[in-house]
Amino acid sequence: MSANLETNKSFITLHGIGKTFQTSGTSVPIFENLDLTIQKGEFVAVMGPSGSGKSTLLNLLAGLDGPDTGEIWIAGQRLDHMGEAARSAWRAHHLGIVFQFYNLLPMLTAEENVELPLLLKPIPASMRRERVEKILDLVGLAGRGRQNPARMSGGQQQRVGIARAIVSDPTLLLCDEPTGDLDRASADEVLTMLGYLNRELGKTIVMVTHDPEAAEVAGRTLHLDKGVFIERERVMA
Ligand code: ADP
Ligand code: MG
Repeated sequence: MSANLETNKSFITLHGIGKTFQTSGTSVPIFENLDLTIQKGEFVAVMGPSGSGKSTLLNLLAGLDGPDTGEIWIAGQRLDHMGEAARSAWRAHHLGIVFQFYNLLPMLTAEENVELPLLLKPIPASMRRERVEKILDLVGLAGRGRQNPARMSGGQQQRVGIARAIVSDPTLLLCDEPTGDLDRASADEVLTMLGYLNRELGKTIVMVTHDPEAAEVAGRTLHLDKGVFIERERVMA
């Protein structure tokens, strides 16, 4: 099976994933035999009721949690067999994460927040600053780098969050309800930006959302319910 999955051309392959949480003596099964394939450059929305395992799925894709059974392949590498150090290196190379509540560090300016992932890499300071400036420009925050995110609107904070997620040019963006805390206008700006990153920069995006308008910008929507996916392809006009 592994040999087949390894030669599989999909960017992301989840095969036979089982995941059960143990809480105070009771077992909470989340996934029993979950399969999923995502191609490079896809924009996939994941919807489903609260508690259906959406964040658990993102944690598995991020290598932040491991499955009990099954295999997780991303970009030709088997994530669930890597040690912690290898997974950290893999994340630094391949992954950007966008959170519902931005997860920005309040003591740092916008540009310092965006710079953080680059500090893990051997990049000279001048190149780091150049890169941060370019990315802030890309997300529409040119000239705002010295501002503290706490003084920004939710929409601006999320754009700082997106800038931080893409500053090291990852191939995969995971977004956990990126518009969940935003008003409609800011949500639409963020969605337009994610659509741009997917279409123009080729980022593969997996986005958990409750927002039907958010799912509209994705090419494919998966509905997670009772541990299985129900898929609806969107017919492109
Ligand atoms: P969703 O994001 O779809 O709301 P989650 O993936 O966060 O759902 O959680 C799915 C289920 O797993 C919930 O019942 C949650 O309480 C449980 N769960 C999630 N993470 C853990 C954990 N680390 N330990 C125990 N139970 C957990
Ligand atoms: Mg969740």
